[in-house]
Amino acid sequence: MERVFIAIGSNKGRRSDNVIDALRKMERGIAIRKVSPFFTTPPAEGAKGGVFINGAIEGVTSLSPDKLLLFLHGIEKSMGREFPHKIGDERTIDLDIIFYGNRIIKTETLTIPHHRYRTRNFMVFPLYEIAPDISDPETGETISDIYLRLVKNGNY
Ligand code: AMP
Repeated sequence: MERVFIAIGSNKGRRSDNVIDALRKMERGIAIRKVSPFFTTPPAEGAKGGVFINGAIEGVTSLSPDKLLLFLHGIEKSMGREFPHKIGDERTIDLDIIFYGNRIIKTETLTIPHHRYRTRNFMVFPLYEIAPDISDPETGETISDIYLRLVKNGNY
């Protein structure tokens, strides 16, 4: 069993219903331990669609990293997300793996810790709410350190 952190986002349709639906579906493969508050975030420059709601969960799973990615893709597909999709497309639901235990993984399909989470306040802020003291296995920084850096840089 591994502890995992998953980022959740939605900017299409009934966003909070989408999140609740995704949480229920995730429970089929992940024992959810914590759910963060959800923040509203404007779509990044170049992205289509409306305002996002973003949050994160902490859970425990026996799925391997690859199986977990397939499991999350299955949920995204079942909720109307089309594959392959382009960067910036509207998303009924977006599920990204931020951490998988202390593992560092870099393959063609998977980068863990998530390759851009450290600079994205919509990923770091929810994580800070549920796990401020855990350390990034790649950099050794705590989530608090990363959060404070974003805030000090005016990124909030
Ligand atoms: P996105 O547009 O954010 O949904 O990107 C999805 C693609 O990113 C997937 O097809 C994955 O193969 C790839 N990917 C790489 N690292 C991760 C990760 N940590 N969590 C989720 N998807 C990832």
